[in-house]
Parts: sequence; C-alpha cells; structure tokens
Amino acid sequence: MVSTGDIIQLLPDHVANQIAAGEVVQRPASLVKELMENAVDAGATEIDLIVKDAGRTLVQVIDNGSGMSVTDLRMAFERHATSKIRTTEDIFHIETKGFRGEALASIAAVAQIDALSKKDDEELGNRLTIDGGTFRDQIPAIAKTGTSISVKNLFYNVPARRNFLKSNQVELRHIQEEFLRIALAHESINFRFFHNDSEVYILKSGNLRQRIVQIFNRKMDAQLVPIAEETEVVKINGFVGKPESAKKQRGEQYFFVNHRFIKSNYLHKAITDAFENLLPNQYVPSYFLFLEIDPSKIDINIHPTKTEIKFEDEYSIYAVLRSAVKHALGQFNIMPSLDFDQ
Ligand code: ADP
Ligand code: MG
Repeated sequence: MVSTGDIIQLLPDHVANQIAAGEVVQRPASLVKELMENAVDAGATEIDLIVKDAGRTLVQVIDNGSGMSVTDLRMAFERHATSKIRTTEDIFHIETKGFRGEALASIAAVAQIDALSKKDDEELGNRLTIDGGTFRDQIPAIAKTGTSISVKNLFYNVPARRNFLKSNQVELRHIQEEFLRIALAHESINFRFFHNDSEVYILKSGNLRQRIVQIFNRKMDAQLVPIAEETEVVKINGFVGKPESAKKQRGEQYFFVNHRFIKSNYLHKAITDAFENLLPNQYVPSYFLFLEIDPSKIDINIHPTKTEIKFEDEYSIYAVLRSAVKHALGQFNIMPSLDFDQ
C-alpha cells in the first residue's frame, strides 16, 4: 500500500466553534440564557431582554454591568476565553454562572453579532460586529456603561438547524422559561422583557416572595409556604405552594443550587414524597427552592448548559429537603384536602 502521509489537522477555529455551538446553542432560548447569565455575572442591576420573532431574528440583552474594554470585547468572542476562571482549581469554587468561556464564541459562529460595550471609567465605548464567526468590524462608539449584545438571524448560516426550530409559540415559551429561571434566582435585579415591541414582563427588584407574586400573579401570595432549613450539607430557602395550588401537570417547579437553576428528578421526588397523602395522584406541587451547597461538593460541569449537576452527598440533601418541606407543611396545619375535582 502507498502511504499518503500524515492526514490529521487541527480544525480551524470557526469550524471548532460551529461544532461546539451544537451543544451550547440549541434554540433562541439558549441565547437568552447565556446572554442574561453574562449580564448577571457582570454585576448588572438592570437587565433588558428584547426579542423579535420568537428569537429567530433578534435576541438582545442590555445590561448596566461592568462593561468591557476594547480588547476584552474582542477577546470575549474567542473560544475558551473567560475572565471567570484561571486554573483548574477554580472550577471547584465557581461563584459565577459562566466559566467555560465558550458561549459567545459558539453563538457568534451561528449568528450575526452586534455588540456594544463601555466601562464606567472610559469616555467612549466600542462596537463590534461579527458574522457567522467572521470578525467584521470594531469601532469606537457612544454608549452607556454596560453591555448590549444583539444576536441576529440565529442559524442563518446553518439551514439544517434553522429548519429544526419549532413554532414561534414553542420557541417563545422556552425563552420565557429561561427568562423566568434567571429572574427568580436574582430578585434584587430589575428585569424587563419585550417581545415584538410589546411588554412581556417588567420586574422590579424586591424579595423572593414579591418576585414570585409579580411573575405568577397575586393569588399566589396566600399559597406560599416558607421553607427554611440549614444543616451541615445544605442550606434551604424558598417556598412551596400549598396543596390546593397544585396542578395536574408540571408548571412552577424550580430548584436552584447556588443560584443556578437545575433539573433534578431525584430532588423533585423529595418534594412529592413530602406532600404524600396531601395530594391526589398526578397533582404536582409548585415550589421555588434555593439550595446552598459548598461548591466543592457539587459538580456542575457535566453538560455545557449546566442544568444538570452531581452532588457528592445526594441522599442527605434529599432527606433534608423532604423533612424541611414536611415540617413546614405541618407547621401550617396543612391537612389532606378532599376538595379536589378528580
Ligand atoms: P463565560 O461566561 O463562560 O466566561 P462567555 O463566552 O459567555 O464565557 O463570555 C466570555 C467573557 O466575556 C466573560 O468571561 C466576560 O469576561 C465577558 N462578558 C461576556 N458578556 C459580558 C457582559 N454582558 N458584561 C461584561 N462582560 C461580559
Ligand atoms: Mg457566559
């Protein structure tokens, strides 16, 4: 056989970024999550989300956070470029939402970016444009302190992904869900969300109860049972809904670990177990629960979107959670109710 020589090459950055984008950017809602998390990490107290056509043509996030220098704004769109960690050690003490340094590079690979940013101590900001991973332009620009990132025409250069998107109604529901997860986890930030120029949510900073009520309506107020528990492994805070506010399908079920929304069927079961005998079959209680756990005892680095997490001591957390909820329901004298229209 004739040898053809060496054939392995490193992929060019734009190809690697487009492949990575497959994991990070699934749909317009992924942009909402990544951009809003960056705004939170930048210390913003005001965050605006502006969406057009269910995110197909525009997802824009404007924040009044730290802003970026000229060089940082350019760097932000490079792969594995982050200001949030420096060493592998840091991965086990993460205090920020981001740390992988791949969101903006991935997003830029599959959309058109118009980014504007200014630091407080600088007179002028600067504006950067990127198309499908290709740098276009960076120029000085008048701007307020903070950052605005517009992501236009998602998947314009990846027709297969674009065609894979669902109806506007479905995409918008995903966007709204990402928005709410972040808004619930950061009740001291003012949020606004506009879709096609109409207001979807205007949320004023306040406490968690106020935030929940602002989002899910006034009736919710009387339904919230506070949960507070602290042990060596976990600190739990938040609310569960009284049994009569439970619904037949999943709705308002929110777990946050160290202020990051997570999905966990196992912890969900701790709650439904605590409601045992209080709810007819198939009814799911609502809950808004915040767990604080030593960051070195969890691993959030399982998946790029970080909604799954590994706990070192899962069973203890389950047990504390179940007993905290049981205890709170008992304190409120909540008894099995027979009034359900089954
Ligand atoms: P990560 O959040 O994992 O660090 P990203 O790709 O999301 O990676 O962002 C890269 C870097 O760009 C961040 O580490 C941060 O320094 C900077 N950055 C991104 N968005 C903002 C923002 N809204 N305000 C200030 N800095 C930002
Ligand atoms: Mg990020």
